[in-house]
Amino acid sequence: MPSTTHPDAFHFEWPVDSYWEASAPPLEAAMPLLSGNAQCDVAIIGGGYTGLSAALELASSGMDVRILEAAEPGWGASGRNGGFACIGSHKRSYASMISIYGIDGTRAFYRAMKESVGLVHDLCTEHQIDAKIAGKGEITLAHLPNRLEEFRAEQKFLRETFGDETELLTPAELKLYGLWGPEFHGGLLGRTGFGIHPLRYVRGLATAAAKAGVTIHSRSRLMRWEESSNGHVLSTANGTLRAKRVLVATNGYTPEDISNRHAGRLMPALSNIIVTRPLSDAELQAQCWTSHVMAYDSRNLLHYFRLLPDKRFLFGGRGGTDASNAGAGPMRQKLTATFHRLFPAWSNAEITHFWRGFVCLAYDLVPYIGPLDEKKTVWTALAYHGNGVAMGTWSGRAVAQLMTDRKKAADMPNVITRRLANFPLPAFRPHYLKGAYLWFGWKDSH
Ligand SMILES: Cc1cc2nc3c(=O)[nH]c(=O)nc-3n(C[C@H](O)[C@H](O)[C@H](O)COP(=O)(O)OP(=O)(O)OC[C@H]3O[C@@H](n4cnc5c(N)ncnc54)[C@H](O)[C@@H]3O)c2cc1C
Repeated sequence: MPSTTHPDAFHFEWPVDSYWEASAPPLEAAMPLLSGNAQCDVAIIGGGYTGLSAALELASSGMDVRILEAAEPGWGASGRNGGFACIGSHKRSYASMISIYGIDGTRAFYRAMKESVGLVHDLCTEHQIDAKIAGKGEITLAHLPNRLEEFRAEQKFLRETFGDETELLTPAELKLYGLWGPEFHGGLLGRTGFGIHPLRYVRGLATAAAKAGVTIHSRSRLMRWEESSNGHVLSTANGTLRAKRVLVATNGYTPEDISNRHAGRLMPALSNIIVTRPLSDAELQAQCWTSHVMAYDSRNLLHYFRLLPDKRFLFGGRGGTDASNAGAGPMRQKLTATFHRLFPAWSNAEITHFWRGFVCLAYDLVPYIGPLDEKKTVWTALAYHGNGVAMGTWSGRAVAQLMTDRKKAADMPNVITRRLANFPLPAFRPHYLKGAYLWFGWKDSH
C-alpha cells in the first residue's frame, strides 16, 4: 500500500542518491556494527543531528554512550536535507502559541531557535567541520500579491514581540538583491541563518563524537527492545546492547513497531529535492538570481530553494504521500515543472539529482524534548516540522542536558517540554495528511 511508511523508504543498506552524497568526503572514523554483548550508560537510537549532538553533550559529562544507527550516521534526514540552518521548527502560528504557552514561553522558544543557529556555527568552528557555510539570512517570497499585506503585519509582529528586524522588499528591490522571479511579488528578508552542506556537517559531528569517546555502531538497526527493572536490552541482528537509559533520536524515521512509546504520536511527511548542474554566470544573470540567501515561497506547501556555493541550484518542496519507489517519478516531474515555471530562464538546465526523505510533525505542531516514561529512563527529542538542521542540533544538546541534570525542564521553553500528544485515531494519519494537503493547496491559491 503506497503511504508515507512504505518499506521502499527504509532500505538502510542503500546510500542516498543525493547531491550531498556525491560531494562529501566519506566518514573519517570507522563505525563498527554492534556484535556480541555490550553495555553502556546511555544508548542513543539514530545517528543524525539529534543523536550526535546529544552524544557529544553526554560524553562531555563522563557518560559511556553508544549510538545504534541502522545505516550510516547522516543516512536519515540529517544527510539529505536542503541545508538551511535557520529558525522555524514549528507549524503552529506564533499567535496560537502565545495563547497556549504564554508570551514568555513563546519568546523563550524563539530565543532557543535563534540560539540553535548559532550553535551550528559554533560546533563547526569548535570541531573544524568544513560544512561549506554560505549565504546570510533567509527570505520569504510572496507567491501572490495579497501576501505582501501579511508580510507587513508579520514584520510589525516580529519587531514588537521578539525585537527582530526584517526588511520588506518590493519586486524591484528583489531584482536589485539578485532574488527575482516572475511569480514573486515581494519578499520579507530576515538576517538569521545560513546555508550548509548537511552531510559534511553530520559526518563532522560523527567524527567529533567518536573522538569524544562515543561508540557509534553503523549498520546496527534496532530490531527488538525489552525492558526490565535493570534497564533496557536493545537487540540488533548481530548483537545486544544493555543500557540504563535510552534516547530515541529517529525523528521522521521512528519505528513504531519496536516500542509503543512513540506509536500514534508522530506524522512522517515527505520532502523532495532536485539539484541542477552548475549554472553559468550568464544563466544566473538571465534569471536575475545571483544571491546565496536561503529562500522560501509563502505557500503553506512551500517550496524552498538556494544557490549553492558551486552555482548549482537546489529546489525543494514538501508534499506527496507515496513514499514507494513508484511514487518518486511523478514527484520528480511535478517538482521539476514547478521549478521551470518559477525560474523560466533555467528550463534547459539539466537536473542532476533528485531525492527525498521524511520530516516529522507532531499533533501540537511544535517540537518535543523530554522523557517518555515516568521513571525517566527513556527520552526523546524530535518533531522539527521540516526544520531540524539547527533545532535538531540544539534539541540533542538540550535533551542531554536534561538527562544529566545540567538543566531542568523549567530552564527550557515550555513550548517544547509540555507533551508529545497522540494523534486521534492514529491509523487515519495518512488520510489526515492527504486532507491537509488538499486544504493547504486551496488556501495557497487564494
Ligand atoms: C528532503 C528534506 C529536506 C529538509 N530540509 C531542511 C532544511 O533545509 N533545513 C532544516 O532545518 N531542516 C530540513 N529538513 C529536516 C531536517 O533534516 C531534520 O529535521 C533533521 O535532520 C532531523 O535530525 P534527526 O537527527 O532528529 O533525525 P534523522 O537525521 O532523520 O536521523 C534519524 C536516524 O535514525 C535512524 N534509524 C531509524 N530507525 C532506526 C532503528 N530501528 N535503529 C537504528 N537507527 C534507526 C535512521 O537511519 C536515521 O539516520 C529536511 C528534511 C528532508 C527530508
